Amino acid sequence: MSFLESVLEQYEIVADKIKLDNGIRERLRYPKRALIVSVPIEMDTGIVKVFKGYRVQHDIALGPSKGGIRYHPNVSLEEVTALAMLMSLKCALVQLPYGGAKGGICCNPKEMSQKEIERITRRYTTEIIWAIGPEEDIPAPDINTNMQTMAWMMDTYSMQKGHTILGVVTGKPLVLGGSLGREEGTGRGVFYMVEESTKVIGGKLRGLTVAIQGFGNVGSIAARLLFEKGCKVIAVSGSKGGIYNKGGINIKNLIQHINENKEIADFQNVNTITNEELLALDCDVLIPAAIEGQINKHNAKGIKAKIIVEGANGPTTPEADKILYGRDVLLIPDILANSGGVIISYFEWVQDLQFYFWKEREIMQRLREIMANIFNSVLSLSREKKVDMRTAAWMLGVSRISEAQKSRGLYP
Ligand code: GLU
Repeated sequence: MSFLESVLEQYEIVADKIKLDNGIRERLRYPKRALIVSVPIEMDTGIVKVFKGYRVQHDIALGPSKGGIRYHPNVSLEEVTALAMLMSLKCALVQLPYGGAKGGICCNPKEMSQKEIERITRRYTTEIIWAIGPEEDIPAPDINTNMQTMAWMMDTYSMQKGHTILGVVTGKPLVLGGSLGREEGTGRGVFYMVEESTKVIGGKLRGLTVAIQGFGNVGSIAARLLFEKGCKVIAVSGSKGGIYNKGGINIKNLIQHINENKEIADFQNVNTITNEELLALDCDVLIPAAIEGQINKHNAKGIKAKIIVEGANGPTTPEADKILYGRDVLLIPDILANSGGVIISYFEWVQDLQFYFWKEREIMQRLREIMANIFNSVLSLSREKKVDMRTAAWMLGVSRISEAQKSRGLYP
């Protein structure tokens, strides 16, 4: 089953559960718009290469569409379509005035120079320029894109329009209308979700054992915050494999090691493990924070964690969901667990539109409040309806979009 098929399967389950109106059910199956663009750039060697880029806007009933841009060799129209739908649900669930979108370029930025990445970013932005804007569709970082990518996108957009437009993308550097807390927003949200779910199982953070798959922006920040609170992060991994130490890894030192451009596997006093082995470790909390489809019907039975907090989008397949729910694993689904990123993106956008910037403490407080509230709503609904947390989260998200669609009616 492809990623898009599994997202649509989940959608049908939820549509049945909430008895979704047939017309709305049909409309939400498909994206509102899907844009495919060719992105030609001159490589440093002088040859011209053409990359494929996408921007998919799933639904805009609740407001402008919102969602990240990823640069990865797996990027395809199908993948971006599935991710755009997840963004619609995520924004609806956490009650932001946004629809969902996603974009990406099929490329391997790890094999490209900074200059090439700048050229690909500027040309891609130009190709999708008519589809984006602060009131239309607002991109943000995702896998392999960051503050610098967003600064180039904002500059390219602004140069074309003839004046500076801060609110066109979020996740920008502070000096260009970025928000305090945005860079660590997703990882911090994941941390809050570990905190909340630990309360549910009657545990405490100190001494909690955690394994984290993926050590990018989400995994590394969540790891650091958990480490600072006394959790024992026993394993982390990157795309090339991971490391394990039963007694806990010193995450501060590991981050410094990585900042010195060294490989995770070369860190001192640890054993190396594969990504598969990491998922099966005996631990309290497992955080998949890499890419989709990692926890599936082949490995779900071997998972020993009591809590799974999905830092990545779509890391668990529907078959694995069933297995884990049957075994009473508390799984905090992506659209809730990693919503910290888009929530702070929303704060950034509001600040940009008002040219008025908030204090970090205020931002963190609001983030925590929103996420803890939604966590509790999802938990109560899952208990009341006897469904897993993903189904409950989707029920809330789809209902909100449906309510907006119903009030607006079908045009013309
Ligand atoms: N790419 C992030 C996500 O998947 C953030 C999106 C945003 O901030 O718009 O949620």
